[in-house]
Amino acid sequence: MARILILGGTAEARQLAARLADRSDLVVTLSLAGRTASPAPQPVAVRRGGFGGAHGLADHLAATRIDVLVDATHPYAATISANAARAAALAKVPLIALRRPAWAPVAGDRWIEVADTAGAIAALGALPRHVFLALGRQEIAPFATAPQHHYLIRSVDPVHPPLDVPHAAYITGRGPFDEADERALLVHHGIEIIVAKNSGGSATYGKIAAARGLGLTVILLRRPALPQVPAVESVEDVVAAIDHALTPAIARGV
Ligand code: NAP
Repeated sequence: MARILILGGTAEARQLAARLADRSDLVVTLSLAGRTASPAPQPVAVRRGGFGGAHGLADHLAATRIDVLVDATHPYAATISANAARAAALAKVPLIALRRPAWAPVAGDRWIEVADTAGAIAALGALPRHVFLALGRQEIAPFATAPQHHYLIRSVDPVHPPLDVPHAAYITGRGPFDEADERALLVHHGIEIIVAKNSGGSATYGKIAAARGLGLTVILLRRPALPQVPAVESVEDVVAAIDHALTPAIARGV
């Protein structure tokens, strides 16, 4: 039995776990950071919480005799991806990264790409606007420095404490979000501009497509730099890469 550790917190990680769950030759564990109060049910065993940096993860890989590590975390979770690369090297465990391609603009998109939340706040400008903040809870707080705007804030768990601004409405929700629902949400709240991450994938693309249809501007935070490691773009390709990593070189005729 080979042991697979998937660093997750994404829909793809759950899909990969489901794809591997029935394999009698694998023992699969999914690792979650433990950020959300009631995470979605998972098809394999789950462990929660940080490892204590790259060395902690390397120790965990050795102690649990992991044969292949899969980094299927979110493209903006740069710290854990860097730790995974370092830990895999330290523990000499093969690492496969599942990296969603970023969205590319198409005709009709009005995108402003910025480096970070400070750039997004600057791009919103001085005049009050109705803003949809589709960011994680951790990225919301800086927008208190721009209290002139009306904010609609969506997060998986409620935002505590709330943003210290006079006009903010909160909704909770977990994707996927389809275009028609996103359009209705944007219209209902009179949204003029969106701040989001370039997450890639289909689950959160609905707001991008809806913004295009409504002629709204989307401010996109640029993706962080991720380590150079063997990477694939689909769940099926991870499965193939795992099988490849587990097949002894001699059996592959290498
Ligand atoms: P991060 O900044 O890259 O990681 C911060 C720390 O959280 C890591 O150093 C690690 O702690 C711990 N951690 C992160 N992912 C973990 C995992 N899968 N298993 C165990 N520990 C983990 O991460 P983040 O941006 O806060 O994201 C946290 C989680 O939410 C990730 O699993 C990610 O896939 C998911 N997520 C993130 C976003 C986003 O926009 N950032 C969006 C959707 C989902 P130690 O150093 O102690 O090991």
